[in-house]
Amino acid sequence: MTTQTRKAIAIPQVEPRKPIPTQNLRVPGPTPVPARILEEMARPMINHRGPEFSAILRRVTARLQYFFQTASPVMTFPASGTGGQEAAIANLFSTGDHVIAISIGNFGDRLATIAGKFGLKVTKIDFPWGEAADPEVVAGHLKASAPYKGVLVTHNETSTGVTNDIEALSQVIRQNNPDALIVVDAVSSLGCVPLEMDPWDLDVVFTGSQKGWMTPPGLMMIAAGPRALEANKTANLPRFYFDWQLALKNLEKGQHPTTPPISLFYALDLALELMLEEGRETIFQRHKQDGDYVRGRAKALGLRLLADHPNASNTVSAILTPEGIETKAMLKKLREEDGVVLAGGQGQLDGKIFRIGHLGHVVEEELAATLDRLEVRLTELGYKK
Ligand SMILES: *Cc1c(COP(=O)(O)O)cnc(C)c1O
Repeated sequence: MTTQTRKAIAIPQVEPRKPIPTQNLRVPGPTPVPARILEEMARPMINHRGPEFSAILRRVTARLQYFFQTASPVMTFPASGTGGQEAAIANLFSTGDHVIAISIGNFGDRLATIAGKFGLKVTKIDFPWGEAADPEVVAGHLKASAPYKGVLVTHNETSTGVTNDIEALSQVIRQNNPDALIVVDAVSSLGCVPLEMDPWDLDVVFTGSQKGWMTPPGLMMIAAGPRALEANKTANLPRFYFDWQLALKNLEKGQHPTTPPISLFYALDLALELMLEEGRETIFQRHKQDGDYVRGRAKALGLRLLADHPNASNTVSAILTPEGIETKAMLKKLREEDGVVLAGGQGQLDGKIFRIGHLGHVVEEELAATLDRLEVRLTELGYKK
């Protein structure tokens, strides 16, 4: 039996609120939000069932369709990227369905885990962390694993700094199974590096506001193509909050099924406008340049990249911690003494690598300062090229 204490709760003694220090935030999400966009969020609240919100939602949706390169609806949900993973599974499949999960790291594993939790039969195709999924190897596994209903794959694996060739993977999947539901986790890639949902024949693509969109965390954007919307009609997995039918019915009215995070919409609305001003191709070019820059500087420092190949990510770089250096101590020094905030490794890479995010709003001087400070602190800790 569980007993419930019936005591009054005293006013808690807590740490006082403190100003947030200015930092050079270089983790792969949340990413820096330009001051203009932060200010936009200070606007007053509006009725989410009123015309002002509808206008924002219509504008944001159309612009997201452009960045996704899809004629299909892009739905928005108050959630982090993981909500996109869960929404895709819950809306597409039925208990016992067989899916293939291609994983090249932590987030690919998470998507497979969610599918398993929802009662799907999951066949995993694993690649060593740091490598991209080889389309030919995938083709072989698909043949051996048929029949299957869907394929789950990560576009940019944030835990390893590797970008999969989704166009090539989509081709081999279609050759093997023209009706397969191709689900792409594009949380840390969309809006930064090329991804074309319709031209590449992808069924579901989702992303998160805090990665490449110059917007704070809290909004998940997910597009479902015709094949996916058809599958959704018969998919029996339980869902309510992430239900696409509810979302689409409301979207037609320029509304959300539930109360949307209005301030985040203010932010995304302006962010998309700024991104359009900059231009998609220019944004891609900038991310490639920044990726090349970080990799080049790391190598010049004598450091080894986890992914030193053409599939190295242009949104996040994973660098092996040199022999004799303690990753956590180094990251602490950089944070406390330089205000440079980097990410460590996840899962099997914990303590072995550190990661530099260069997606979304990236100020070149800040990226240069990151590498400068890294060099100083590594040297201080005894590192020699
Ligand atoms: C960040 C991320 C996610 C989701 O993480 P949240 O913390 O839930 O936003 C999922 N997939 C990839 C590839 C990511 O980078």
